[in-house]
Amino acid sequence: MNTTIQHVEPILGTLNSTVTLPGSKSLTNRALIVAALAEGTSVLTGVGLSDDTEAMLGALAALGVRTEVSGTTVTVHGRGATLAVPTVEVDANQSGTSARFLLPMLALAGSGTLTGHEQMRARPMGDLCDALRGLGAVVDGDRLPISVAGGVTGRAVSIGADVSSQFVSALLLAAPVFPDGLDLTLVGTPVSQPYIDMTISVMEAFGANVDAAPDRITVAAGGYRATNHAIEPDASTATYPLAAAAIVGGRVTVAGLGARSVQGDAEFAKRVLEPMGATVFVDEDSIEVRGSGLLDPLTVDLGDMSDTAPTFAALAAKASGTSAVTGIGFIRATKESDRVQASVDELNRLSVDATVDADGFTVIGADHVPAAVETYEDHRMAMGLALIGLTRAPVDVIDPGCVAKTFPGFWDMVAELRSEAQASPLVLAIDGPAGSGKSTVAKLISERLRLPHLDTGAMYRAVTYAVLTAGVTLDDHEAVRLAAENAEIIVGPSRVLIDGEDVTTAIREPEVTAAVSTVAANPGVRVVLAESQREWARRRGGAVLEGRDIGTAVFPDATLKIYLNASVEERARRRALETGDDDIEAMKAKIAERDHQDMTRETDPLTVADDATVIDSTSLTIEGVVDAIADAWISAEGR
Ligand code: C5P
Repeated sequence: MNTTIQHVEPILGTLNSTVTLPGSKSLTNRALIVAALAEGTSVLTGVGLSDDTEAMLGALAALGVRTEVSGTTVTVHGRGATLAVPTVEVDANQSGTSARFLLPMLALAGSGTLTGHEQMRARPMGDLCDALRGLGAVVDGDRLPISVAGGVTGRAVSIGADVSSQFVSALLLAAPVFPDGLDLTLVGTPVSQPYIDMTISVMEAFGANVDAAPDRITVAAGGYRATNHAIEPDASTATYPLAAAAIVGGRVTVAGLGARSVQGDAEFAKRVLEPMGATVFVDEDSIEVRGSGLLDPLTVDLGDMSDTAPTFAALAAKASGTSAVTGIGFIRATKESDRVQASVDELNRLSVDATVDADGFTVIGADHVPAAVETYEDHRMAMGLALIGLTRAPVDVIDPGCVAKTFPGFWDMVAELRSEAQASPLVLAIDGPAGSGKSTVAKLISERLRLPHLDTGAMYRAVTYAVLTAGVTLDDHEAVRLAAENAEIIVGPSRVLIDGEDVTTAIREPEVTAAVSTVAANPGVRVVLAESQREWARRRGGAVLEGRDIGTAVFPDATLKIYLNASVEERARRRALETGDDDIEAMKAKIAERDHQDMTRETDPLTVADDATVIDSTSLTIEGVVDAIADAWISAEGR
């Protein structure tokens, strides 16, 4: 075994990256088989070139299928049903999909022997061999190497679908070229159903006629039509950078993979990262995760996305409690390593409490100790375990080269996430006087930038409400400070609560507005609220915060600082419209008084930060202001 080691150090700061990933290994190997069986020339783009695809390309050459590789484009000269009889042993190397998908191809060729790497020789093939026997082929052996003689003559067969969906996919992929198609009965609940769906989607893209019910799939004879086909980025691979955003905190976007994906693992972000506390956006063509570095524990059935189990192990190790994965008992025998036992053993090596269950494993999240972890010649173990080293303490990954099986660029991607990480969370600070349009603009821009929004003025108002209600005199500074310190204030998107009481409208009443600037001038109150605002933004991996001192005191390192202003006449007019009070002159006087108090107080007065962009909204539309801020953000975020 290779004894090189990759040292993974924690990333300090918050992630801020868009990553492009190699094409899906699963889709690539399916498309290569189908293109080889099509009549004519097909062009596959966005192909994921890895050890597994190399194995498949070598095997196809042995079957007489010519392919040309140029970058991530592979041209395949399909041979229809007339594959060449291989003169050498066909080698699937370590690739499970290649081994499974190639066996029916040998039956189509008429004869041949399939072999593979030692690890692959131990993995099960028996059910597939039996199914081919049931279809009339003569198959010698139940584990690699396996020899096949004589082709497929029958049409109907049944197969256990509860061992590996790859057996089902293998039969389906070859089926359009079988003499009479295929009538396949599935016995037992299929594991990894999304992979069967993925197989069918590739077959259909090449013109196959498939009729799928849960327990029976029929495929018409008639062959495949050569076509040009784009391969999606690999969704299992995408779990590593997306999980990194949740673990480290910050933003990671995976381009080219989204709601349209045919890969089951594309759901990982929604089904695992979101319930663990990350914010997930799935668009047509991208998945974005924003995390805080704080993870809630989760118990989840990963039966239909079992390749993500090692990623889950890393997340569970970081969560604040006990997490468990169920539904993956079957992977213990069919994958590159026993990923259940291996995950548990390596977490234990890192001093994280983990145990093997009947159907998965349980992990009690904890700070790990630095250690060197074994990877079992298993790419997914290496990539999953590496995630653990991204926070708190380093992890040394033994035999890091094994990632080449599916993602040779993995370590470069980790280096890129690290170099693009920022020292502080992404913060848009919007300061300015009352009525300048901060709240309206902050809400809209927060949707545009996908960052949560905090109205810090509402916090000062909530404390003021509490103090007034409790009858505390405003010049009793210590009592007012204590009120702020002891209050539990929640400012949500549409409601404000203090100690559980909904004060959304009460804090906008004139009595509160008249007293708030006095409360806000209390230095003790400012210390308490500023710290809770920092904590709020950090926990969310970034935020849009609006107030008076965000860019000057709360986040002096904010990614972008906006000072939003407008003439006092315009601000009074807007407030009058809002409140229904049409005494503009009186409104002007009140606003001017509050501005004066806020601008002249001792602690953190309202001023323009040196590096703030000043926008005067007097004669601008709301959209105009939002567009200007969005433009400024794009260049600030890239700095
Ligand atoms: O934004 P809004 O008008 O609701 O803010 C109410 C008051 O809270 C302000 O006039 C100011 O006195 C205080 N405030 C502050 N610092 C902030 C936000 C608001 O002093 N960051």
